[in-house]
Amino acid sequence: MKAPDFRLSDGRLHAIAVCGRARDRYSGRMITAQPVPILKDNYAWLLRDGATGAVAIVDPADPAPVAAAIDAAGGRLDLILLTHHHNDHIAGTDEIRARYGARVVGARADAHRLPALDQAVGEGDRVALGATQGRVIATPGHTRGHIAFYFADGGVLLCGDTLFTLGCGRLLEGSAAEMFASLRKLAALPPETGVYCGHEYTESNARFALHADPENAALRAYAERARALRAEGRPTVPSRLGDELAANPFLRAPEVAGFADLRARKDRF
Ligand SMILES: [Zn+2]
Repeated sequence: MKAPDFRLSDGRLHAIAVCGRARDRYSGRMITAQPVPILKDNYAWLLRDGATGAVAIVDPADPAPVAAAIDAAGGRLDLILLTHHHNDHIAGTDEIRARYGARVVGARADAHRLPALDQAVGEGDRVALGATQGRVIATPGHTRGHIAFYFADGGVLLCGDTLFTLGCGRLLEGSAAEMFASLRKLAALPPETGVYCGHEYTESNARFALHADPENAALRAYAERARALRAEGRPTVPSRLGDELAANPFLRAPEVAGFADLRARKDRF
């Protein structure tokens, strides 16, 4: 497989530790993130605190490729961060915890259906990765207890199945109003924030987005960049929040009713 160089959708390099030999290129005091493609189209994310070398993995559903990525990065694992209880996000947690002795962090609201948690968290709680503090953002909608992790130092938003590139998660447990409110919280983060979501869905999401908002020039340019990246076998994630605000119809819906209509149309698309 061709070694990807992880770029934002507008072509600029984000603060990411590129895997393999270049992974130590970024040594500043910030969180860097590396995608670990797993299952059919999921991403686990390997985070590293530049100041201390502390390492976290987000949503390690498939233990073999996740362990390979951790070992390639030096074999250290401090934290396992879980965004929500679906199997394609949590399945490898206990095996990875047993292998590396990492602490597991997940939503207090869903503790009954997550792997055993060492730190149960909710809205506004802090999660320390080495010297860096992440903030928990409660994002119900896709599931009741869905949470996102935001590391301001590095501009890294781990948003699971809430906000996707050019899309958003399906409303499996929550209401449209809950998901709309969750997306508004994420939309309020700095536009330079990197959107590190849980799936590679950009191309299929682009088809609906272009159907819903055909005259949006920013969306058309975004979709074309994504198509070119995928043609080269490269991830389209992370994207930049500012680009989502310009192109993602679910972030651009001005009120709940419009959002609910859009979500229902996407479900039938
Ligand atoms: Zn899910």
